Amino acid sequence: MVKEKLYYGKDIEVMFNSDVCIHSGICVKGLPAVFDLSKRPWVDPDGDTSEAIARHIDTCPSGALTYKLLDGEYSTKKEDEHA
Ligand code: SF4
Repeated sequence: MVKEKLYYGKDIEVMFNSDVCIHSGICVKGLPAVFDLSKRPWVDPDGDTSEAIARHIDTCPSGALTYKLLDGEYSTKKEDEHA
């Protein structure tokens, strides 16, 4: 069973798949106002700008974290990696 959770913010939706996470800690170390394991829920999609959250989620090494910007401009898509 896939353990995927969705966190809704004003401008961004953040998805987290705990089955895929390799516990690198990059998310919590890099953006503690958004990713804080001591809080419930541990993801606050309004804790920073949607751009900052999106850029940081792109550094998640496992792909456990993904996102969708609610203006429809951009979502996590690895095929955009030609830049
Ligand atoms: S950055 Fe990704 S792999 Fe690392 S702890 Fe966060 S969700 Fe898990």
